[in-house]
Order: sequence, then C-alpha cells, then structure tokens
Amino acid sequence: MPRFPSVILTFAGGLFCLLSSSAAAQFACTDVATRHTFSLEGEITDADFATYIELPFDMPAGVRRLDVTFDYDRSDRTTIDLGLLDANGFRGWSGGNKSEFFVTANAATPSYSSGPIDAGTWNLLLGVPNIRKGVSAAYSAEITLQCLGTPDSKAVAGSRGRDWYVGDLHAHSAHSDGSCGNDLGTTVSCPAALSVQTAAERGLDFIALTEHNAVSHHAVLAELQAFYPKTLLLSGREVTTFFGHANAFGTTEFVDFRLQQRTGYSVTDLQSQVRALGGLLSINHPGSPSGEDCMGCGWVLPDTDYSRIDAIEVVNTGFVDMPRGQAHLAFWHDKLNQGHRITGIGGSDNHTATRPAQQPSAIGNPRTWIFAEALSEAALLEGIRAGNVAIDVSGGQTKLLSFEAAGAVMGGTVSLAGLEQGAVSLALAWESSEELEPRWTVDGDIVAATGANSDSSDTATRWQGSLALPALVGESEADAPKWLRVDLMTPRGATRLIGNPIYFDP
Ligand SMILES: [Zn+2]
Ligand SMILES: [Zn+2]
Repeated sequence: MPRFPSVILTFAGGLFCLLSSSAAAQFACTDVATRHTFSLEGEITDADFATYIELPFDMPAGVRRLDVTFDYDRSDRTTIDLGLLDANGFRGWSGGNKSEFFVTANAATPSYSSGPIDAGTWNLLLGVPNIRKGVSAAYSAEITLQCLGTPDSKAVAGSRGRDWYVGDLHAHSAHSDGSCGNDLGTTVSCPAALSVQTAAERGLDFIALTEHNAVSHHAVLAELQAFYPKTLLLSGREVTTFFGHANAFGTTEFVDFRLQQRTGYSVTDLQSQVRALGGLLSINHPGSPSGEDCMGCGWVLPDTDYSRIDAIEVVNTGFVDMPRGQAHLAFWHDKLNQGHRITGIGGSDNHTATRPAQQPSAIGNPRTWIFAEALSEAALLEGIRAGNVAIDVSGGQTKLLSFEAAGAVMGGTVSLAGLEQGAVSLALAWESSEELEPRWTVDGDIVAATGANSDSSDTATRWQGSLALPALVGESEADAPKWLRVDLMTPRGATRLIGNPIYFDP
C-alpha cells in the first residue's frame, strides 16, 4: 500500500481542505470551468528517505492539458524526484532534472509521454533519494488542468514583445512526406529537427511543421522548443482531404480530415472542430488543380463558410507571378470582394529541409510577416486574425516597415464617409536589397496613386501618395470600394512583397 502523507489541497479560489486520499472532483469541464489550478502541498521527513510517495488528485473527464510546477525546500541537501502516474499507470519520470512539465494527447515535456488524458485518479509521484536524519522539507506542486483547446499563450524567450515577426507557415518533415539526403546520399524521411535547425539558421522567428493529417511531430517539437528559444515552433498540421487542403494552427490535437458523404462529416464540421480547439484554419494553395493531376490540391468545397475561414495561403512555394500563383491570388480577391475579411498568408510548403535558401519552396521562401503582441502561439494567431500581415516573396530580401491608409494599418478599416474629397492618403516604408515600387489594388483592380513622392535612405525607402476614390464615394453601398492593398514590385514587374487589405466602410 502506498503511504499517503498529509496533503493540503489548496484551491485557486481560496478553499482549503485536508486530504488523506484521492482528491475529490472539484470541478468539471463545462463552459464555465475551462481551466482550474490547485496546489498539492505537504512535508517529507527523514522517515521518507528512499521511499516513493503518491499524491493523488482527481482528473475529471474532458481535460486536454495538464501542467505541473514543483518546488521544495532544498536545504540540507534534501532531494525530491518527480514523476507522474495517470489513471492507467506510469506516465513519466523526470527525477530531479525538471521542476515543471506538461502532458497533452500528442505532446508532452520530454520524460513524460503524450497520450489520452483519461478521467480517474492520477498521482504525482515523488521519490526521496536524499534527506538527512532529523530533517523535514516542505514541498508544493501547482497543478493546472485545462479543458478547452487553447493556443499556448506562453512567449518564447526570444520574444521582442509587440513587434513584427517573420516565419514560415507551411513545411513538411519525416512526419509526412518531407525527405532529404542522408550521410550516404540516400534519400530518406527528413527529421523534423533539421527543418527547425534550418529555420533558426535563417533567422525565422517561427516555423509551423504542417504534416499531412499527422500529429506525431508535436511530441518532437515539444523537445526542440527549449533548444531554439528564438524560433517559436507553431503547432500545425495540413488537414489533407480529397477536396482541398487547409492548415489548422494553434492546436496539437487531432483534427479529423475524413470528409465524405457516407459519414456526413462535412467541411462545416471540420470548421467547427478547429474553432472548438481554439485553432485557426487557413485554406492552402486554393488555385491548384484538383483530380488526378493533384488529388485534393485545389479547394472544391462549395459548402465552406468563409466567415469562419481565418486565412488563405495566397502564396504557396513562391511562384507568385506564374499562372498558378495568380490563381491563388484570384481566389482570395474573390472572397474579399464578397465581403469576407480573410488574411492572406504565405507558406513555402517545403518538403526538403536542405533546399538552398534562395530557391522557391526553401524554408523561409516565401515568409510571412505578422505584427503580434509577443512571440507566442496565441499572439501569432491573433496577429493573423487581425490582418496586419505581409508576405515576403523575395527570399528574405524585403521587409515592410509600415503601411497606413488614412491612418489605418492592414486589417483595419477606413470610413469612406470620413475621406476628404474621396482621397485616401497612403504612407509606406520598406527595406529591400532591390529598387521596388508600390502597386495598388482596389477590389482586385490595379489602380494608380497620385502625388507620389519617395525618399530612400541607406536602409529604408519611405513613400507617400494618395488614391482618389471620388467616383465611388456616395454611390450605393454595393458599389462602394471594399478594400485596398499594396504589393511591392520590381521595375520589371516581378512581385517581391504582398500586403494585406485595409478595408473600407461606407
Ligand atoms: Zn497541400
Ligand atoms: Zn503541404
């Protein structure tokens, strides 16, 4: 029989109770209680030397994530080791090497196994390899149980706070069809670590490995994250259906891809599932062909609720000026013209981590700039939703520093009624190794700005001008312009950067 020391269970709400056996269920995973933190506190004495102690707590049904932080009195060389038993048995052991850990269905801190969070009695397992005669030591474990899927709000150490962050939102490794040459020159499944290493070497602030339907990479990424504190490893997978591909970001949980008439599982269900997990859904390479040429590559799901699509991958692999690249853009413009406010993003769709940086579809080519409050999963997702986002298709040579139309930033709104004589003032700044010029698009049509003047310093180009919309202001609401965006082009007409819309309100 395990020996139970007296355990004081401290609830975040201020309730206290003394326990000597399994902590009773104190909350359930309902809409109201989605997160619950409590403490297991107690004391060991020299009588506990060379024993194992089980601290039971109740795991209610529906919990998706467990976080544990452990601390104890280390004076007199006391040592307490740490482990975890789940409702079925052994779940992990970190001894004296980790004082905090998490477990979820598909990812966990190394030393702990990912897997189902089954309801029942769980135990924090303590081991006592060292405690001297006559010594006692207090310990405290803070345990947080989380019910709803929620993007991780913890920023990595390399976060710069509120800033522009750049990264790659689409890549594959050994966990799907990513491949590369090994030391013998044989093509093999390419380890996820190599994709992450490459992203870090190229200075990316984030990378999402978006394996086809698989979730096995999340356990590996949980191990790599601490080693790459400047590159956030964004949770993602490419939901790969017979009728289209979409990246689901912000959750490590399985997202069902099996759209089929026979079971009735529809795109509406898929969208609801991603929302319920707190994730973000982005339609990938929508202008690609479908059928035998590329099974499921184009997006052919007429039931899609575009009010619940957060993003569209408008640049895939980087060939933006080719017909297929233009088809992705046209798909996006069509949804914008229908009044949907959907953020355009880019993804390299890299399948070979060793591909040289300047080649299209290399990791970081294209790369997406996101203005975010911090370098965390939750903040990046919020940044994509907010729409202050730009896509660099120059292989890392172009950076948009700022863009405002009538004071609004990308993703923001300008009131047409508030414009003086229907003119929108435009201000833009960028850095590039090439000479570039802005190209303006209103509702999908290329339009010319007037009164432009620009000024280039050593590093940045600042451009100012305005756009006249007089014919459109005062017309019926349906005719009024809906959105405006900018691209940065070379003088020969090659696209180097794609901006997101600023929207017009009548
Ligand atoms: Zn795809
Ligand atoms: Zn892909």
